[in-house]
Amino acid sequence: MQNSEIKTTCSYCGVGCGILVTNDPKNGVIVKGDPDHPVNKGMLCSKGMNLHYVANDISDRILYPEMRWSRNQPLERVNWDKALERAAAVFSTIIKKHGPDSVGFYISGQCLTEEYYLVNKLVKGFLKTNNIDTNSRLCMSSAVAGYKKTFGEDSVPIAYEDIELADTFLITGANPAWCHPILFRRIEQHKANNPKVKIIVIDPRKTDSALNADLHLQIIPGTDIILYHALAKRIIEKGYTDQDFIKNHTENYQAYKALVGASSLEKASKLCGVSVNDIKLAADWIGKAKGFLSLWAMGLNQSAIGVDKNTALLNLSLLTGHVGKPGSGPFSLTGQPNAMGGREVGGMANLLAAHKELSNPIHRKEVADFWGVSDISEQPGLTATEMIEALNSGKMKAIWIICTNPLVSLPNSRAVEKALENAKFVVVQEISHRSDTVKYADLLLPAAGWLEKEGTMTNSERRISYLAKGINPPGEALSDVEIITRFAKKMNFSGFDYATTEEVYREYTSLTKNTTIDISFLNYNRLQNEGTFQWPVPDYGHPGTPRLFTDKKFYTPSQKAIFNIPTAIENTSEAPSSEFPFILTTGRIRDQWHTMTKTGKVSRLMTHISSPVLDMNAIDAYKAGIQSGDIVVVTSKNGTVRVKVKVSNTIRESVVFLPMHWGKQLDNDLNRTNNLTNILVDPVSKEPDFKYTTVAITKYVKP
Ligand code: SF4
Repeated sequence: MQNSEIKTTCSYCGVGCGILVTNDPKNGVIVKGDPDHPVNKGMLCSKGMNLHYVANDISDRILYPEMRWSRNQPLERVNWDKALERAAAVFSTIIKKHGPDSVGFYISGQCLTEEYYLVNKLVKGFLKTNNIDTNSRLCMSSAVAGYKKTFGEDSVPIAYEDIELADTFLITGANPAWCHPILFRRIEQHKANNPKVKIIVIDPRKTDSALNADLHLQIIPGTDIILYHALAKRIIEKGYTDQDFIKNHTENYQAYKALVGASSLEKASKLCGVSVNDIKLAADWIGKAKGFLSLWAMGLNQSAIGVDKNTALLNLSLLTGHVGKPGSGPFSLTGQPNAMGGREVGGMANLLAAHKELSNPIHRKEVADFWGVSDISEQPGLTATEMIEALNSGKMKAIWIICTNPLVSLPNSRAVEKALENAKFVVVQEISHRSDTVKYADLLLPAAGWLEKEGTMTNSERRISYLAKGINPPGEALSDVEIITRFAKKMNFSGFDYATTEEVYREYTSLTKNTTIDISFLNYNRLQNEGTFQWPVPDYGHPGTPRLFTDKKFYTPSQKAIFNIPTAIENTSEAPSSEFPFILTTGRIRDQWHTMTKTGKVSRLMTHISSPVLDMNAIDAYKAGIQSGDIVVVTSKNGTVRVKVKVSNTIRESVVFLPMHWGKQLDNDLNRTNNLTNILVDPVSKEPDFKYTTVAITKYVKP
């Protein structure tokens, strides 16, 4: 236990605010915003400033390993040796009998970089399967694929300091006022200081972000690409393009120009539900901008055409030459605190560490040699939803779940329930009994949480920070690094003899040498003493890289950025019908985080919105005879939710919104939004289509 102040980073969203922590013998952990941190300059949002409750209250924590021999038996306490010997025995037996691809790992964007790296090394290098995916698949894999298609690599080119240098913001498919609050406060402050700054928001809902905008385009869900093409058409027609940038630094412009040239503002207006004048105004502001920042998140990414939506938006930055210069760039917001770190270490089924590609045999050999293993399978691993399908079909037999609650967060919860029931062996490595997934565990492993272990994370702007350990984990909980290394040793794998977490970090950073994300000169000492760094940091004296592509050299073979042509322009996953006439879109509320395993136990955070509520347009409600406070049954082809209604004018007609946070409540699971959603994914990114499910709504009548 320590009493002196330590520096760490908030464990919630991808903004990555710096936090100062003291551990007071009387009052426990006390948190405050770090005034010297470049991200938040002392500010914290409601979630961050209540983190001490989460750290101090251990009443829900899993305190020791538990195990059962069959599903109809209760879990029983065991020691770590017995728990991990069982895990090793079961995984070895299943792999021997059914092959390496019969097992899989599902991890989290809340894992620290060292943990992410280590689990990937274990699975891809030693278990010989690429079946390891992360819940970041659910939030930003479309953005990763979009950046790769446009710039040649997954590369967020901006820094937060570009906020204060931009004069035009396009916030599309995101509600940063609630989901990235400190970032949005910087935008608000910048606008307050510079009233000529323009904020455009594209969103089917009148969110708090939209209420603060100069122009809100209240789009019909799924029509984003049509709108971006209409904006591009106007930008080209008005001569706002940066021809020098297009000519010297891009490819495929003529095809793109022909495509958007064939579109019509009038037609786009009709399809998108936005007036022609508003399209023109938005295009004129973007076209005349000196600094143009586009910001987006799940509204684009969580779609059956998420990658196309991303590249269509990125095209607007190419068209206007707003890449690699101050106050400009396409900026995808990461949802989770270390989603970016996971991307760096190849934390998804189709990636390898240090931005190397699983599909590239040279990269596979480089990483295999580095890990001292014979090879890495060329077979791409199963993604999050594919693992659920594989468990249901019997192709996969065992799953190891780390720091995530798929029963609530994955689409089509009923299919997830069946998959976990069907699995021969489920390991859940978790901090809290509040996770609904715990009840499916055959082996439950207690993990250390925020502040109880050290490591690093990378935020949305590629900024790496060190998180110090401030308190000991409760009971017998261990850090994820410790759990994985102990398991690897039980499997008799060599290469897991780390004396410290820092050794894991050193190994990973050395793998980045001479890559585009080179941080081989970064170490804990520098992070502790010099503060945070944005990658790449390619030598000892290097201060980090706030902005990428300042030389206009992109990571494609031609070093030019690519105008991509979408394969689809409208979300056609499901068309509203007489049976299911409403489009359901799902998302987050201000004071909750993911499936509420942490924020749900903080009573102060429950005062904002205490239970799930369906937002419904006033005209729709009137037609259906529904009033605020009524209970309705929401039905899709996948399942049912029973929930209270809030009639409002903040949402379009024929569109309804439900928050994604609630799991099993009140002895039933009818609050769980993902009972309704589809296991439909983007064909490239494999990111689920959370923003577009057609549903029916009827007033609930008590039986
Ligand atoms: Fe934490 Fe995000 Fe809030 Fe910052 S904005 S305090 S990182 S939840």
